[in-house]
Amino acid sequence: MTVIKKETVVLKNYINGEWVTPQGTETQDVPNPATGETLARVPISSKADVEQAVNAANEAFMTWKNTPVPKRARILYKYHYLLTENHEKLARLVVQENGKAYKEAYGEVQRGIECVEFAAGAPTLMMGETLSNIAEDIDSEMFRYPLGVIGGITPFNFPMMVPLWMFPLAIACGNTFVLKPSERTPILATELVELFTQAGAPKGVLNIVHGAHDVVNGLLENQDVKAISFVGSQPVAKYVYEQAAAQGKRVQALSGAKNHHVVMPDADMEKAVTHIISSAFGSAGQRCMACSAVVVVGDGDEFVAALKQKADELIIGNGLNDEVLLTPVIRDTHREKVLDYIITGLEEGATLIRDGRKEMDEIKEGTFLGPTIFDHVTHDMTIAKDEIFAPVLSLLRAKDLDEGLEFIRKSRYGNGATIYTKDAKAVRQFREEADAGMLGINVGVPATMAFFPFSGWKDSFYGDLHVNGKDGVNFYTRKKMITSRFDY
Ligand code: NAD
Repeated sequence: MTVIKKETVVLKNYINGEWVTPQGTETQDVPNPATGETLARVPISSKADVEQAVNAANEAFMTWKNTPVPKRARILYKYHYLLTENHEKLARLVVQENGKAYKEAYGEVQRGIECVEFAAGAPTLMMGETLSNIAEDIDSEMFRYPLGVIGGITPFNFPMMVPLWMFPLAIACGNTFVLKPSERTPILATELVELFTQAGAPKGVLNIVHGAHDVVNGLLENQDVKAISFVGSQPVAKYVYEQAAAQGKRVQALSGAKNHHVVMPDADMEKAVTHIISSAFGSAGQRCMACSAVVVVGDGDEFVAALKQKADELIIGNGLNDEVLLTPVIRDTHREKVLDYIITGLEEGATLIRDGRKEMDEIKEGTFLGPTIFDHVTHDMTIAKDEIFAPVLSLLRAKDLDEGLEFIRKSRYGNGATIYTKDAKAVRQFREEADAGMLGINVGVPATMAFFPFSGWKDSFYGDLHVNGKDGVNFYTRKKMITSRFDY
């Protein structure tokens, strides 16, 4: 089992049931974002390593696709047990390599486990459909079959949950899988594969290839990879979607976000502040469902003052400390980009009411940035339009809900949006008109659970079938129709 030791571990790929040293010789440090301590080194594998993994997965598919569905599901039951047994250890690993607070990491592990619970329902989920008498003495049946080898490419911000959006359901449906985790958070992925093997997965069913662009391109180009599930930033999601589609693969590419929270004048201000602070600054704002823009409807000065005060009181530090809410961003290179956005915000005329650069100067270790809030941001400013992915929040003022909804419509992204109100009419208007795929009514992070689709809209998603829920089952299966005549 992978443990973080004092000496630097160089991670390996997992191919055909064995841990193997990649053919590519380059490696990168994996630092703890809170301390800078090197936790491991991750290999940057080559296309040849991808080919080796895809060949193994393809070979395993020949047997796995014919393994009875209940037998496949039983491996997931065992996996569920092992993940649950290791819940705390997995959460600590997430904190170490990603930096988020333990409570958030614990919740993330729980979300991942729920994906396994869902996938274990494969015998029911994979059921087909029948209709007798479509014509005289003729019946029709639909069966579901797996596709083959699936490639999964994941981001740094949910090292547990996002891989588990993908491989448990793909494999339960009879596919085999090659996972390329983020090179910035690769350690937990090795643990996930280790436990899956302990659960009884045959060799070649789940493989892991560490690395960066070459691994992604290797998966995109390989004709034996039948589908790609991608989660990451917008430019890469669009690239992966276009390349995979051009190669004739099925593809779902989950992308960036800019999530608006509308605060109506009648909202419970205390609760709205609490939810927004946690949504915007939890996980250092590095969540695709984080609140990154607040639309303050009417005269919201009192709300803005309360929000700033709560931000001032936030405890910043290492996620292993229970008191902490605001943790570091993933890397210094990312923080540099965020600092450029703060300068752009000032240059474009927004009012910086809370400057998180202060804490950055105070905390020398790790890649911290304090809570940063801009007021009087207009919808056409760069900081209102771009995903910053950091503890930087923009406040937009709107005269009424119609104007707030207009801001949401104008955003290129459409992952999530929330309204804080007690007014049923406003709730209904928001539900009908908000131009985003996952809405919250007085909910800070309206992320869906495993049995519903994670249904981003606009530039937050490229593809047709979302991850999770029935969409997930449709993504990982293809249908065969049988039409039978019985008057012979
Ligand atoms: P990223 O795009 O940098 O990396 C994602 C994956 O793509 C990684 O495995 C990485 O190795 C690979 N990659 C990066 N650049 C590449 C390139 N040029 N060519 C080929 N492959 C490349 O994303 P990240 O910074 O790890 O993750 C954060 C992003 O993910 C944010 O934009 C966030 O909104 C998004 N995200 C979206 C969702 C969603 O549900 N929509 C969920 C989680 C994260």
